[in-house]
Amino acid sequence: MNMLAGKVGLVTGGSRGIGRSVVARLAACGASVVFTHSGPLHGWPWEGLKQSEHILPIKADVCDAQATERVITTTLEQFGGVDILVNNAGIVRDGLMATMRAEDWEQVLDTNLGGAFRYIRASLGSMMRRDGGRIINISSIGAIRGIAGQANYAASKAGLLGLTRSLAAELAGFNITVNAVLPGYIQTDMLESIPANVRQQLTRKIPAKRFGNTAEIASLVAFLASSEAGYITGQAIAIDGGLSN
Ligand code: NAP
Repeated sequence: MNMLAGKVGLVTGGSRGIGRSVVARLAACGASVVFTHSGPLHGWPWEGLKQSEHILPIKADVCDAQATERVITTTLEQFGGVDILVNNAGIVRDGLMATMRAEDWEQVLDTNLGGAFRYIRASLGSMMRRDGGRIINISSIGAIRGIAGQANYAASKAGLLGLTRSLAAELAGFNITVNAVLPGYIQTDMLESIPANVRQQLTRKIPAKRFGNTAEIASLVAFLASSEAGYITGQAIAIDGGLSN
């Protein structure tokens, strides 16, 4: 399980849900990991984490450009560089377009898409100096399936796909791969905002008849981060129990 030994991972939004599982998985694979969060960090250090001295949480809002620079500087000082960037921090502010507040549109775009832009731009110099890297953008099947009430979220997640494909072309010559992971419905706090009866209806529509779990997303991220995945770039990989088939 040491396939990421000596590597440095940076995960945005690593305090809960998918991000937290990704942090734990990268660390279990031998990487040093810096992760960001925006609110209070509960229960740190988490139980069962090996090598916790190689895991560094930093409070930093992905919408804040100066905070982003601070995260990168600290990562370089503490661990020497960035090899794996996982753009995971994301929010929903659901609502129908006719009544959507401009701030809900802007906040979702700035967090989900703008955050990725800021972290990618700030990490690239280090990846280039280290002769390679991995960028993994956590998009959503909402990027490829229309869901009423999620136009802002879907636009941000579809934007991540365009970003992924263009950057893959731009960075392939630098040995930096760029891929997007498209989770379906994954059991996290984000799903808790959906009423229980709607969640039941959704489960029936999923061919696998269940929501996914965060460890399943983390496994795919760890694989994409590994040397095994060096020839995979510019891809959008759904992990959704067959929902987007
Ligand atoms: P979650 O449980 O709500 O966790 C979101 C994470 O993002 C938290 O760590 C949160 O930090 C962080 N975050 C939010 N805004 C931030 C900001 N401005 N700056 C820094 N960190 C911020 O969400 P999740 O379900 O794990 O989702 C993770 C990613 O997967 C998101 O991009 C989401 O869109 C995507 N996704 C999720 C699902 C799903 O079904 N769960 C499906 C498709 C895609 P705090 O704890 O500090 O708030």
